[in-house]
Amino acid sequence: MKTYLRILKYLLPYRRIVLILIFSMLLYVVLNIFSIALIVPLVDVIFTDISAAPSTGEFDLKKGNLKDQLMGWLYHTLSKYPKQDALLYVCLFIAVGFLLKNLTSYWQMYLNAALEQGMLRDLRNQIHRHLHQLSLHFFMARKKGHLISLMMNDVRLITESVMALLGMFFRDPPTVIVSTIILFVFNWKLTLTILLITPAMGFIIGKIADKLKKYSTRFQEKMSEITSLVDESISGVRVIKAFKMEKHEIEKFENQTNKLYKIFVKLLRIRSISSPLSEYFGILIAVVVLWFGGMGIINKTSPMSAGQFIFYLTILVSMLQPIKMITQVFNTVKEGIAAGERVFAILDIKPRVLDTPDAIEIKDFSNSIVFENVSFKYDTTDLVLKNINLKINKGEIVAIVGPSGSGKSTLVDLVPRFYDPVEGSIKIDNIDLRKVKQESLRDLMGIVTQETILFNDTVAANIGFGMVNAQMEKIIEAAKIANAHNFIENLEHGYFTIIGDRGVKLSGGERQRIAIARAVLKNPPILILDEATSALDPESEMLVQEALERLMQKRTSIVIAHRFSTIQNANKIVVMEKGEIVQIGTFNTLLSQEGLFKRLYELQFRML
Ligand code: ADP
Repeated sequence: MKTYLRILKYLLPYRRIVLILIFSMLLYVVLNIFSIALIVPLVDVIFTDISAAPSTGEFDLKKGNLKDQLMGWLYHTLSKYPKQDALLYVCLFIAVGFLLKNLTSYWQMYLNAALEQGMLRDLRNQIHRHLHQLSLHFFMARKKGHLISLMMNDVRLITESVMALLGMFFRDPPTVIVSTIILFVFNWKLTLTILLITPAMGFIIGKIADKLKKYSTRFQEKMSEITSLVDESISGVRVIKAFKMEKHEIEKFENQTNKLYKIFVKLLRIRSISSPLSEYFGILIAVVVLWFGGMGIINKTSPMSAGQFIFYLTILVSMLQPIKMITQVFNTVKEGIAAGERVFAILDIKPRVLDTPDAIEIKDFSNSIVFENVSFKYDTTDLVLKNINLKINKGEIVAIVGPSGSGKSTLVDLVPRFYDPVEGSIKIDNIDLRKVKQESLRDLMGIVTQETILFNDTVAANIGFGMVNAQMEKIIEAAKIANAHNFIENLEHGYFTIIGDRGVKLSGGERQRIAIARAVLKNPPILILDEATSALDPESEMLVQEALERLMQKRTSIVIAHRFSTIQNANKIVVMEKGEIVQIGTFNTLLSQEGLFKRLYELQFRML
């Protein structure tokens, strides 16, 4: 219930549309009953003898019951005219009544769409905005496919349930209530009989609805799994091919789609039985009414005229659809609540790395970055950084080396504050990073990682990524410094060539050089570099290395080093092992000591 109230809050920005919708739905209900009610005078006044009219025609609430008064008034009014004229008026009434009814229905559909799509847009935007506020912790712990499914499917389930509820709430329950009152007014005994036989049918339909819900939840879960699978098998296509896992992936996928198929067929089997069954139950009720009501008319014991009886029957049959809708919507709302719970679980996660209200904007980097007794752990791990103390002065090149898993990437991820330390602090120009505005901090940094993510856009846009209105000359200049200009010129549309998702149309070296050009263009005072471990061909290697050296000039660089030239040129080499700094020094001093660096150097660097 609480979840649903929270979902309904998304209607608030659209309250005007909601009010218009409610008004037009109520109008629809009135017009609907009104247009059916016209049948009574049609049958009684025009096609039968007017003497059968039950009242004198004076509309007076004190005399007789409401039905007789109302009918009497209608009969009387119509019987004042010759039959042809009366028929004409009835026809005109019907034409206008149905015109209005259908106009409101058109108008409702259109407003419904505006409301539903508006809510969908708002929810998606909110989740997307929220995702971008969350720190990397969040993404590490989740499957991308599930997030995609959340934004595409769950959000849709929520809005569908709200729309169904809204469409139903002001139309169907009032229709059912008003219709039931009318049925009671016309023939309370018959109506009571019907009410007594419906619960049994309701029970059977309820059981079917339960099953329906079970299978629709399973269907959603399977859809989310398949979204995940599609994502993984497409993003991992390179690895899949390399390991010849295509067959395995295909089998895995087909296994899942087959399960989805079975669930859906079952779902539809249940859904398909529910509609004919409820219709048949409705008809059974109508048959009972026809029998008892008809007998009453034949034996002249019924309180209703023939026209009234047809009216009664029509109202009864027209109630079936709204009743069906109410039960259906009840199920949709249940599904909406389940989806809402999944969405709100994500929306309620508080970003761990947050700007404090009084966060400082830093304009430049003038002195140093200092790690003071920094320790860090991921949610699922023990400490991966232990008591790190390190000073990086402006203008230095600091190379970080160490065996894989020793904490190098984690250490550099703390500098742009992708994570906060669990103990100790990192200070930039003597200000704790937690007191600095994240945006202003990251403005000072250029990050070139091994995973050079390129977006599915033009080369120029990829180089200019993150820069609003980057000028073309500057982009070209940056590409030249990054040794990328020549190969870009040779691409089909030069700087306007679209590169595929993650840049699959480019070679590894080319991708790296575009990522370097991006950093050159940004021209940040601090550079964070994760040198690629994958070997490039000698020519690419030379071009990339040259580009990197130019990029590092006149900057402060923190480099996870894999190249010999980098460690040789570094002002400081930081050697890490199992989350700790075990040695710090220049190339020559470290090489003259016995220790991890010397061993690593012999294993890793001397060969290069
Ligand atoms: P390196 O860059 O030196 O290879 P990392 O900083 O990547 O080392 O990893 C240090 C340790 O932290 C490793 O034990 C690794 O398994 C763990 N680790 C890295 N990233 C995560 C993460 N997102 N969640 C949990 N553990 C992680």
